[in-house]
Amino acid sequence: MAGTGNKNIQAKLVLLGDMGTGKTSLVLRFVKGQFYDNQEPTIGAAFFTQVLSLNEATIKFDIWDTAGQERYHSLAPMYYRGAAAAVVVYDITSMDSFERAKKWVRELQRQGNPNMVTFLVANKADLESSRQVDNEAGELYAKENRLLFLETSARTAQNVNELFYDIAKRLAQAAPSRQGGMKLHSRSQEGRRRLFCCSS
Ligand code: GDP
Ligand code: MG
Repeated sequence: MAGTGNKNIQAKLVLLGDMGTGKTSLVLRFVKGQFYDNQEPTIGAAFFTQVLSLNEATIKFDIWDTAGQERYHSLAPMYYRGAAAAVVVYDITSMDSFERAKKWVRELQRQGNPNMVTFLVANKADLESSRQVDNEAGELYAKENRLLFLETSARTAQNVNELFYDIAKRLAQAAPSRQGGMKLHSRSQEGRRRLFCCSS
């Protein structure tokens, strides 16, 4: 398959956003191809890994899925610090969740890695009849804040793989093309190397 003899990239990815917007559901859709109507709320944060093979690189995502509740807010920097990519999620049926997403974006812009690939994701696009946040509103905010933007549905899988592939592609492009230097030579090393680590 793809990814042979090419860049190996380990990338920390964090999901932020209000509780109930579908962060865990997006990750489970991506990692397991599954969706649960009664997804249990995340406590603190959950960790997942997934490997994506592109032609030009193999990306191993270390995914931190945060809880989203305000009482866990002080823990958030632990998860977004050193992240190569951030996905800020809101729920198109909740204007509040959109406002909360904007707060996360501002926090990332103040305190996050400036080179971070940051996506604003409008989830639950399948619930069109209950929509409170227009596609245009999300798109415009994203544009003004130099974020990437996608509408997704963890339920129908709309744009979920596209989201993670797009991130992987951008990380592959941003990674130094120096052959060899990016390679992870053994499994034991993999856990420790943070090729996209940044000082912050
Ligand atoms: P989190 O708190 O952000 O991790 O949100 P969850 O993934 O736990 O999802 C909260 C609720 O929304 C659960 O009942 C999910 O089944 C539901 N949900 C998540 N994504 C979608 C979606 O794309 N469409 C619909 N209709 N429901 C969703
Ligand atoms: Mg969750």
